[in-house]
Amino acid sequence: MKDLPSPNELQAAWEEIQEIHTEYLLPHGVRIPNVVHYTENAKAIWLAALHYFDGQVVDKNTVSTICQRDRPDLQHDQQVRHLKRDGWNLIGRGKHKLDPYKPSTEWINDKVRRENRLNANDFNDLKAAYGNRCATCGAREGRPDPRYGDDLVELQRGHMNPEKNLTLQNAIPQCQFCNRAYRGDFAFDDKGRVRAVADIGPVKRASDSVKIKIHNWLTEVFG
Ligand SMILES: [Zn+2]
Repeated sequence: MKDLPSPNELQAAWEEIQEIHTEYLLPHGVRIPNVVHYTENAKAIWLAALHYFDGQVVDKNTVSTICQRDRPDLQHDQQVRHLKRDGWNLIGRGKHKLDPYKPSTEWINDKVRRENRLNANDFNDLKAAYGNRCATCGAREGRPDPRYGDDLVELQRGHMNPEKNLTLQNAIPQCQFCNRAYRGDFAFDDKGRVRAVADIGPVKRASDSVKIKIHNWLTEVFG
C-alpha cells in the first residue's frame, strides 16, 4: 500500500471519482455528497481515500486516520461500510475495496424490486417482485423450510405499516410463520426489515432497563 495521500492527492482523487460517478453511477441513482472540496463531508473523504488507493483493499482504520488528519472534528471510528447504503459497490468488511464503475448488486436488486412493486397489479405480481420468497426471512413459497418444519411455506399479505389499510402498496409478502410471529407489532420497510414498533406488545415484553430507556425518552419528547 502507498503512503497516506496528501490533501492535494485526495482532492484530485475526489474530483476524479465525481467524474466517474456522473458517468457510471448517477444513471443508477447512486448517491454522492454534493461538495466541492473533499474535506467538506466525511463520505467525500472516504470516497477520495478509497479511490486514491484505486482497487486495493483499504483498511477502514486507514480511512479513519486520514479523517483525523484532515477533519479532526470527525469521529475516530469512521463507518465506511455505510457507503453501501448509497449504492456504492464496496467489497469487504472492515477492509474495503471500491469498484466505482458499477453500483452494488444489492442496490440494483433494490431498485428493480421497487419498480416491480410499484408496477404490481395484484398480490401475485407483488410476490414475483420478491422472487416468490418471504420478504422477511427469504423462505420460498410452496416448499417446506428447514427452519419451520414440514409445513409448506405459504406467502401472505404482511402489513408494512399496520396503522394503515392493507393495500398492495402497503403490503409485503410474508410467510405464515413471519406473519404470525410479528402480528401487528412491527412496521417493516419494503425489504421486509423491521423499522419500528407498531404496537405496545414488544414494549411490554422488553426488559425493565429497555422500558426505562423508552420511558425516559418519551418523557423528554412529550413531557
Ligand atoms: Zn418468513
